Amino acid sequence: MAATNGYSGHKGILDCYVYYFNRSYETLEGTKLRWVCSHEGCVVPILTDINMVIKKEPRIHAHCPPDAAERAADIAKAKGKKIAKETNEKTSAVVDKVRIEVPVSVLGQLPSKSALSQQVRRTRVQVIQPPPNPQALYNLVIPARFANIMKRG
Ligand SMILES: [Zn+2]
Repeated sequence: MAATNGYSGHKGILDCYVYYFNRSYETLEGTKLRWVCSHEGCVVPILTDINMVIKKEPRIHAHCPPDAAERAADIAKAKGKKIAKETNEKTSAVVDKVRIEVPVSVLGQLPSKSALSQQVRRTRVQVIQPPPNPQALYNLVIPARFANIMKRG
């Protein structure tokens, strides 16, 4: 098998459908890459060669393609969660950062400001959740995130 691990986690978009890299295998015509639709429960594959030339067209999907705006909104929400987890910025600042970066066409797909704020707060509660009490002092490990003084958002 060729060293195509480099494709793992890669995504491709064809006709608005998103495909994840599935596996690669050798054929007489060279390495083929198999990609599978990202939609839950859908197994429509595409075959390409390593130059991303389509070798086998996908069958018809039994679902609509994910809406591009919806996808962009998901990415924006994930980014907000990341900022919430990794910084001490105020909740409202995190929400503004998320909203400022998305195109106007995507804003409608985002949850409301208050829903976004709630999401940021919820993400932080998860992060703040302390580890269980140690049974003995020598088991005590203070996670890095508790080693600093935390500021409330
Ligand atoms: Zn599909």
